[in-house]
Amino acid sequence: MNQAAVLDLFRSSGALLEGHFKLSSGLHSTGYLQCALVLQHPQHAEALGRALAPALSAARPTVVLSPALGGLIIGHEVGRALGVRAIFAERQESALTLRRGFHLDAADRVVVIEDVVTTGLSTRETIAVARAAGATVVAAGAIIDRSGGDQGLDVPFHALVTLSLPTYQPDACPLCAAGQPVVKPGSRK
Ligand SMILES: [Zn+2]
Repeated sequence: MNQAAVLDLFRSSGALLEGHFKLSSGLHSTGYLQCALVLQHPQHAEALGRALAPALSAARPTVVLSPALGGLIIGHEVGRALGVRAIFAERQESALTLRRGFHLDAADRVVVIEDVVTTGLSTRETIAVARAAGATVVAAGAIIDRSGGDQGLDVPFHALVTLSLPTYQPDACPLCAAGQPVVKPGSRK
C-alpha cells in the first residue's frame, strides 16, 4: 500500500479531514487526523499492519510493543503480520509501564509501533520501557509520521505516510485571514 492509498483510506474513513480546524490546543490547522476512525474497521487495520510489516521484518523482531491506547490496534495488526506477540505499555501514575503480566527479557527483539508519531515522545518512552526490561529495540514504526522529519529516535524508523499538517496561532492563521469558517473537529455529524 503506497502513501496515496493509505491517505485515501484515511480520507474515506473520515480519519483525515482537510479544511480549517480549531484543535483542542486552541491552534488552528489545515487538517485533522483521528486514526481511530480508520482503525475502527478491522479490515483496514489489518491491511495497514500488513503494509507496515515488511519494512520491519528484516530486523527479525520477536515482539511488538505499543503505547496504549493509540498504538494498540495497529501494534496488534503488525504483530499478526509479523507472526509475533503484540503487547502494550500503559500509563500508571504518568509513567509508561508493562502491566497485565506482559514480559520482555534479554532475548526479545522489540519493534515499537504507534499510530502517529508527532514529537516522537511516546515512542521514545516506549523504547525506554523495553530497554528497562532488558530487551533490544530493533526498530520503530508508525502509520503516519507528522514529525516534520525529526522523530528523535535512535533506532531505524519506518512510517507508511509522511504528512505535514501546519498549525497556526488563531491571530496568525492564513485561513482565518481568508475568511474561511473554522470547524471544531468532532462537532461534525
Ligand atoms: Zn484559522
